[in-house]
Amino acid sequence: MFCPKCGAQLVPGARFCPKCGQEAGAPEQAAETAGPQIYTVTFIREKQWFAINPAVKILVDERDEYRIDSGETIRVPMAAGVHGVTFKCGIRNKVIQLEVRSDLCLNLKWNRLTGSLVVK
Ligand SMILES: [Zn+2]
Repeated sequence: MFCPKCGAQLVPGARFCPKCGQEAGAPEQAAETAGPQIYTVTFIREKQWFAINPAVKILVDERDEYRIDSGETIRVPMAAGVHGVTFKCGIRNKVIQLEVRSDLCLNLKWNRLTGSLVVK
């Protein structure tokens, strides 16, 4: 029997992992509580100099809200699957469909000519 969290070998009948303290649940219990795979989506906002350069709000599935300042990097946990991600700054709004199948990295910057947010 192995720890479901860290993989350490457990003494038969042990309730807790001696290495990480994880409760050694029954296998069927573990499968029940295991939701979709969670990945990390990293948003990197390029540092840009403007007279006014407020934070961009990032709304995931119109529910979880984050904010990112110029030059900042944030990491957002997201379940595997497709998510609607909205970037908001003042009256500007950009919505993308983000398919999460692994850890991702998105780069954000303002297009200096069009004033729109570029996400790639
Ligand atoms: Zn463990």
